[in-house]
Amino acid sequence: MPTPMTRPHARLDAAFRTLAACCLLATALAPVCLAAKDWDIHTLGGREYVSDENVAKFYGFERFAKQGQDRIFHAPKKLIMTWKIGSESIYMNNIKFNLSFPVVENGGMAMLSTVDLAKLVDPVVRPSYIRKPIEFDTVVIDAGHGAHDTGAKGPFGREKDYTLDTSLRLAKALQARGFKTVMTRSEDIFLTLGQRVEIANRHKNAIFISIHYNSSGAAASNGIETYALAPQGTRSTNGGNPWSSPLTGNVRDAENIALATAVHAQVISDIKAVDRGIKRARFNVLRGVNKPGILFEGGFVTNPGEAKLINDPAHRERLAESIAEAVVRFKAAVGKR
Ligand SMILES: [Zn+2]
Repeated sequence: MPTPMTRPHARLDAAFRTLAACCLLATALAPVCLAAKDWDIHTLGGREYVSDENVAKFYGFERFAKQGQDRIFHAPKKLIMTWKIGSESIYMNNIKFNLSFPVVENGGMAMLSTVDLAKLVDPVVRPSYIRKPIEFDTVVIDAGHGAHDTGAKGPFGREKDYTLDTSLRLAKALQARGFKTVMTRSEDIFLTLGQRVEIANRHKNAIFISIHYNSSGAAASNGIETYALAPQGTRSTNGGNPWSSPLTGNVRDAENIALATAVHAQVISDIKAVDRGIKRARFNVLRGVNKPGILFEGGFVTNPGEAKLINDPAHRERLAESIAEAVVRFKAAVGKR
């Protein structure tokens, strides 16, 4: 399958729109691959970057505007991508993506790290370029927590019960769309994180979705966030040191971010929830999974408004339907070429 190196004037992927209601996915470009003639690599502070202009040209954005610190890439009817110099996040079709490294300024140009280019932008804008994507017919659904591990506690209920109910609904919604499903737990039992990974890895042609709800000491905290495993050598969105050693789950970096995008964008679009962004972490359940996997946080049980919603079975059903629809889009987007 061609890489950006061998397709110098590749356009945005038609699968971009397929990935989700408003978004997209491609391949884990090794940084060395980006050193091809199409990419003008700048080394700043020991890290490799590409410029805004280079990105606009490579992907064939019809319009590219610089407005102060902002950069706006425009492909009519397909994609608007915005960067801001100094920011640790970018937006694609209004969906927030947390970067591994901030956008920096160099000689009037906004610069994106090659890690974020290869592990985020490329898989999202060109999902069909992902190399050897998994051919899956099964979704392993992981209902977070269980038994004495109650997870977050809200005014109306406990996370472990909400995750199980949402997961059972998701299984039905996926089965209705022709997928097989496997539950790490389908009752109120305790499983270690290792056992969840072990169950996921037992199934070959599968993807992995872990369902959680959020909590915070600040009652105002709200919104949806979706996690993909942090790439090798990068830090987690919520802090910590970068890890230099690769993890099992890093084999699926491109599909991980694509799946996260599909699910996150679909839910934000359907539920109109606050977008906390697609984030990076090294959660135990994501580290060891040898298939595309994400961890989805479906809102805060500690926020008065969201607690009420999460406690409503109709809302959990909408969430399940939305995630199932995203799985259909993910499959279509990565398998397009
Ligand atoms: Zn949880």
